[in-house]
Amino acid sequence: MIYFVGAGPGDAELITVKGKRLLAEADLVIYAGSLVNPELLNTCKKETTILDSAKMTLEAVIKTMTDANRLQESCTIVRLHTGDPSIYGAIREQMDRLDAAGLAYEVVPGVSSFCGVAAALKKEYTLPDVSQTVILTRMEGRTHMPPKEELSLLASHQATMVIFLSVSLAKQVQERLLSGGYQEETPIAVVYKATWPDEKIYRGYLNQLAQLIESHHITKTALIVVGEFLGDTYLRSKLYDPTFNHMFREASQ
Ligand code: SAH
Repeated sequence: MIYFVGAGPGDAELITVKGKRLLAEADLVIYAGSLVNPELLNTCKKETTILDSAKMTLEAVIKTMTDANRLQESCTIVRLHTGDPSIYGAIREQMDRLDAAGLAYEVVPGVSSFCGVAAALKKEYTLPDVSQTVILTRMEGRTHMPPKEELSLLASHQATMVIFLSVSLAKQVQERLLSGGYQEETPIAVVYKATWPDEKIYRGYLNQLAQLIESHHITKTALIVVGEFLGDTYLRSKLYDPTFNHMFREASQ
């Protein structure tokens, strides 16, 4: 059986219980070497074959899985992805090829880095009256964006925005967010290697974004978060308001 497993954002304790059990049982592990914490591989048996997918093509990954499965159908294969595999994980193309080859697989979710970043910042992305929407996106780079998802169009909502894979394009990110409608003094944060021991948090305002990233020499493994959720103003929640009735609690006043 093949398992796509989310490794979590960095801290080796942030993998799921199921993911850790599968790593302990695995005969073959193919892990995303650039971002997965290698400490997680200590969970594997001594005889487990461990391969770094950073050096492999999609075809090589599929062939390795298919060959291992052909040799021993009962073997456990773990394809270990950073964060959660459903976000910029390139798993769809793998699953489609496994479907075509008639191989069974399961997906085990993980803690995405955008959750790790909120935890590092000790912030909540959705605040009453501030933003009830989180946009997960990226800046156009070598991967093209669908035109309707151009960053300035998404910025027009001024919702909470989490921008992946884009610190090397910080100047364009800043320009497009401003031209899309965010104010220059909108709070931003850049979090490098959230939940890793060398995590770094930089805070500022949108008009300082590019300069902040450049002056701290951040070139990879960071998220940019944007929005008033980083500020200090919000309404308290209805859910825990004493005057609010809901299914599990009568209003007290
Ligand atoms: N599937 C992953 C994202 C893969 S794309 C997830 O759910 O998190 C890789 C990008 O994710 C990186 O370029 C960076 O923008 C972001 N990223 C991954 N791990 C991170 C971390 N620990 N801290 C900050 N950003 C991270």
